[in-house]
Amino acid sequence: RAKSAGGNRYELADPEADARAITRHGLTTALPAALERGEFFIEYQPLVHLGDGSVRGAEALVRWLHPQHGIIGPDRFIPLAEHTGLIVPLGRWVLEESVRQARTWEARHSGAGPLRVNVNLSPMQLTHPNLVSDTVDILEREGLAPGALCLEVTESALIGADDDLLKPLRRLAEMGVDIALDDFGTGYSNLANLRRLPVSVLKLDRSFTQGMQHFPADPVDLKIVEGIVALAHSLDLAVTVEGVETGHQADQLRELGCDTAQGWYYARPGPPDRLHQLALLDATG
Ligand code: C2E
Ligand code: MG
Ligand code: MG
Ligand code: MG
Repeated sequence: RAKSAGGNRYELADPEADARAITRHGLTTALPAALERGEFFIEYQPLVHLGDGSVRGAEALVRWLHPQHGIIGPDRFIPLAEHTGLIVPLGRWVLEESVRQARTWEARHSGAGPLRVNVNLSPMQLTHPNLVSDTVDILEREGLAPGALCLEVTESALIGADDDLLKPLRRLAEMGVDIALDDFGTGYSNLANLRRLPVSVLKLDRSFTQGMQHFPADPVDLKIVEGIVALAHSLDLAVTVEGVETGHQADQLRELGCDTAQGWYYARPGPPDRLHQLALLDATG
């Protein structure tokens, strides 16, 4: 009910905006206890080799099983965790959990080559002084080779990055950890700048894949992807595409020379054990 006090008029609040605001605040303050209570869990989405269709690994995607609101996606709480700094312990937990999981896959894997795990890093984790030592500790403790880990950093987090920001990533890359540039094509990075970054994988943003959903695909979209792939390969970067939802998209992306794909066409993010089935792992192990 609108009321007035002291000559100020109070408008009726938009109930939806109000609910969103309360939720945002409520979620933010609930985050630390949620981490303590183990309310976060990780789903894994397969990364598939476009050439032969084999599963090469998976991206770890964190979710929050909130006691009142059910499952909450990372787009809703990662920005809040980033804002309050909780992303540092949360991100460390995701890394530890994912590395342990990759070690389990490795132990049970009967196919060729190890299954790798991709873990997303927030900008605040990038600038945290313990990034390198924490990562080294976790890999050693769990006994996973650095080459089985890929850290995903968004293009926007590295825009205008100076050498201080790149140094930890460079050290990780020298150790054999792969660094992927996530959501590539959504920022405004100088393509020539790519050479300076210690990345070995470009993850082409879903918006490019979406442009290929319809047949025939927009020829300009195809040309752009073709150009990016050529540039990436000339710099020795592998190209992963996100958001592949149809076989038609997969065919086109393969023809355009993309290396790896991820998307609902292959599998939605799911529990870690499902990767065993998808990757033809030794289920008896
Ligand atoms: P991202 O790293 O670009 O992850 C890909 C997102 O695309 C995921 O959304 C995934 O579920 C979704 N996706 C995969 N295939 C398809 C498809 O075929 N179609 C469509 N429409 N979507 C698809 P999700 O899981 O909601 O994650 C959203 C973002 O949250 C991630 O984007 C990443 O930036 C962030 N995130 C997730 N987990 C973590 C984490 O542990 N740490 C940090 N810092 N960020 C995370
Ligand atoms: Mg990612
Ligand atoms: Mg991405
Ligand atoms: Mg994305």
